[in-house]
Amino acid sequence: MSNNHDAIVIGAGVVGVSIAFHLAERGVKPLILERRQVAFGATGASSGLVRMHYDLELESHLAWVSFQYFRNWRERVGGECGFTRTGFLYIDSADHAGKLRLNVEMHQRLGIPSLVITGADVNRLAPSFRTEDVGIAAYEPESGYADATLTANSFLAAARERGAVFMQDCEVTGLQTAGGKVAGVRTTRGDFSAPVVVNAAGAWAAMISEMAGVKIPLGTWTHDVAHLRRPAAVGEHPTVIDNSLKMYFRPDSGGLTLVALEDDSRIGEPADADLGYVAKDFVARAVDRICMRIPAMEQGSLHSSHVGRDSLTPDQRAIIGPAGPQGFYLVTGFSGTGFKLSPAVGRCVAELILDGKSSTVDISGFDPTRFERGEHLKGEHDYGVIWRNLGEG
Ligand SMILES: Cc1cc2nc3c(=O)[nH]c(=O)nc-3n(C[C@H](O)[C@H](O)[C@H](O)COP(=O)(O)OP(=O)(O)OC[C@H]3O[C@@H](n4cnc5c(N)ncnc54)[C@H](O)[C@@H]3O)c2cc1C
Repeated sequence: MSNNHDAIVIGAGVVGVSIAFHLAERGVKPLILERRQVAFGATGASSGLVRMHYDLELESHLAWVSFQYFRNWRERVGGECGFTRTGFLYIDSADHAGKLRLNVEMHQRLGIPSLVITGADVNRLAPSFRTEDVGIAAYEPESGYADATLTANSFLAAARERGAVFMQDCEVTGLQTAGGKVAGVRTTRGDFSAPVVVNAAGAWAAMISEMAGVKIPLGTWTHDVAHLRRPAAVGEHPTVIDNSLKMYFRPDSGGLTLVALEDDSRIGEPADADLGYVAKDFVARAVDRICMRIPAMEQGSLHSSHVGRDSLTPDQRAIIGPAGPQGFYLVTGFSGTGFKLSPAVGRCVAELILDGKSSTVDISGFDPTRFERGEHLKGEHDYGVIWRNLGEG
């Protein structure tokens, strides 16, 4: 294998392999370097929710462009992404009714199928739900969830079919520059040169940035997930973000329901800290919470639980753009919501690299330097940050 490449992508999470796929589609043959294996990081633990409901138009737009991929995966990318349409509900209290209506109007302007509904409507869509406290909800009939590991694998396979080269068990240990430009990387399997290097290393991206002399305010977010067996009385249900009860849940294959909490994650754990077990009491808290929305889940039982870790930024939004030496790009900081955006992000980053700016969606708002200016991305009709009351790691 040649050591000279058109571009190098560090990290074979769903973001890195999407970038590689979109570069390869445009005739650039990237080398993807992964220190373990595809989907080893956040991607392999992702809950896979696919919805367009955000309070920031930029994210809704990326999610909507990405949705066209999930919906037509075989034709657009090839292989499988495991997209399952379940319908999606964003449930909130009456306090947020005004903001939710304005956000749904924004979604509709983008073309996203979404409508504002009442608690009674929620009850008709999901008869097993307790809905007395539901002040308002948004309903996206087309949304659902996908399998993040399958998605990453099929992006990778499609990139390789188009000329990308993949090296696993290959850790990037240094960056090479010449005359203010990026020249390549040092790795545990030798040196590789390229005029473009993309840092898509997820929770490890701050370490790669430091190799380029770039400091980014990137932390980590460690998140517990439970899978519960649904009793027959509950039946199928939609995918839900329940902002009233600070949790999200969705059906899974085999009669399971995946549950996770929005106020129960940990920040600042080392990127390489052991992911062995969910936090003490997490399962009990998750079960209590889901029973508040679906009382019949009391008859359910625990199937399994797992932990995942993603990168986290101060405004809980991605960092995307050039930084440091010419040819070096940061694409990280997805803060627990990057899976559903990954197809559009990959396309936009390929445009940024090859055309100087992204035309599918203008992603300049994710500029890495915004934090130095004290600017935080905030929804136009802001619900506040997603992950609250984060415990210190
Ligand atoms: C538990 C959990 C649930 C989530 N649920 C959802 C959800 O429902 N919907 C949603 O949209 N998003 C969700 N997310 C977020 C989403 O999964 C992530 O934002 C997304 O997967 C990030 O992808 P990535 O490619 O940036 O990072 P990662 O998947 O972490 O990939 C980074 C890769 O870089 C590699 N790497 C690191 N350092 C080096 C190095 N030095 N050399 C070579 N390779 C290196 C790592 O091994 C890793 O494979 C969830 C995340 C978690 C953890």
